[in-house]
Amino acid sequence: MNDPRRRIPSVDALLSSASFGRLLAERPRALVAGALRRTLENLRRELATGDRSAAPDEAEIAARTDGELRAMDKSSLRRVINATGVPLHTNLGRAPLAAAARAALAEIADGYSNLEYDLERGARGSRHDHCTRLLRELSGAGDALVVNNNAAAVVLVLNELAEGHEVVLSRGELVEIGGSFRVPSIIAKSGARLVEVGATNRTHVRDYEEAIGPETRVLLKVHRSNFSQSGFVSEVGIEALAQIAKPAGLPVVYDLGSGLLRQAAALGLGAEPDLEGALEAGADIVTFSGDKLLGGPQAGIIVGRSELIGRIRKNPLLRAVRVGKLTLAALEATLLLWRDEETAAADIPAIAMIAADSESLRARAHAIAEELARRAPAARLEVVQDTTRVGGGSYPGGELETWVLRVTLPGRSEVELEAACRAGTPPVVGRIRNDALCLDPRTVAAHEEAEFLDAVTAALTADQDDATG
Ligand SMILES: *Cc1c(COP(=O)(O)O)cnc(C)c1O
Repeated sequence: MNDPRRRIPSVDALLSSASFGRLLAERPRALVAGALRRTLENLRRELATGDRSAAPDEAEIAARTDGELRAMDKSSLRRVINATGVPLHTNLGRAPLAAAARAALAEIADGYSNLEYDLERGARGSRHDHCTRLLRELSGAGDALVVNNNAAAVVLVLNELAEGHEVVLSRGELVEIGGSFRVPSIIAKSGARLVEVGATNRTHVRDYEEAIGPETRVLLKVHRSNFSQSGFVSEVGIEALAQIAKPAGLPVVYDLGSGLLRQAAALGLGAEPDLEGALEAGADIVTFSGDKLLGGPQAGIIVGRSELIGRIRKNPLLRAVRVGKLTLAALEATLLLWRDEETAAADIPAIAMIAADSESLRARAHAIAEELARRAPAARLEVVQDTTRVGGGSYPGGELETWVLRVTLPGRSEVELEAACRAGTPPVVGRIRNDALCLDPRTVAAHEEAEFLDAVTAALTADQDDATG
């Protein structure tokens, strides 16, 4: 027997060999040794399965260990370029932050802050006071509270107002927002009992009236933020719900989800319900996400009547879902931009991407196509009209007119092209439609354009073996 595995040197011998000198000069010994062990395991497996026959030499083992170390250096969370055209893409991190929000975040990250310190009194303060004044000003509500995300906001609100008691909700609003958020499960986790009323397509005022009893604590409404119903449908709006709730002394809680602060022509989101409208119609508490139509960081925002928010502030669960200082910094800077809708539409990237007009998108797609055609002459590039979504559970049923780059390359399938872009530096995420790779510049920020062009060029000009290996 002449097993090549026997000819692999020991870990100690390798670590003291000349080939490992450079690796050990750059990194701690334990890190290099760990990567070396994994490399040797892989090599032994390849030799055992017959994937290779010759024993590796020292230099090859060192090169593979180096590759292993480099792969470990890469963080798992990486920046990508979103060429899907979906501005609030949940899988790609929803809203990119405005420059002002990034600056505020960097400033607070860089040192200490008055997170829980009252600078006027020189005494302990509350993190829950930041953003509150602005949220009151922007919404007109009595009070506000910021938590980790909207799912947490809903659990917290229902836990405080209805634990051990009943929450009444229409069967048409038993919404699922992505696999992990289902309204019935969230209500159950809050400790409240769900009482379903009406039918999937129609719920009437009398359905709510009949469901109200001594155990009822909340009338809940959930925005159908990621689907729409049409045909033989009817629902009870906030105003009518408030009219039922008030005489019964019950609060109306509205999970608005998408969190459009107010209707503004600049945004062109006519069908989307907004916070201002919900409060005016009589909602006592409204909850929504910070990273959907607000265009800020991940957060859950609760606004509404002071007395109710005061109770929620004292709930011990608040400690479990509180936000960090980086979120508060980015959120406050984003809220400041919302004081003026035109500023919001121009300076908040997600809003600007949603509001981008078709003609300028078309011109931009053409300019990018021309540049790519020059750099990758073998590629076929067309600018075609398409539609996209706002994403992130916002603006259901509403489509945005858009212009995409349709890319094909003789000898390469669209699946290979899509994968090559995704493997780029930085990765570019597009989508496949009608047998072609489609790249939508709507969601590629101006400052990303040079990198986008380089990464796509690399994917279009790489050898087939490189790109698929
Ligand atoms: C998005 C959404 C949620 C979940 O919000 P997160 O901030 O992602 O936790 C809950 N309810 C509705 C109606 C939503 O649209």
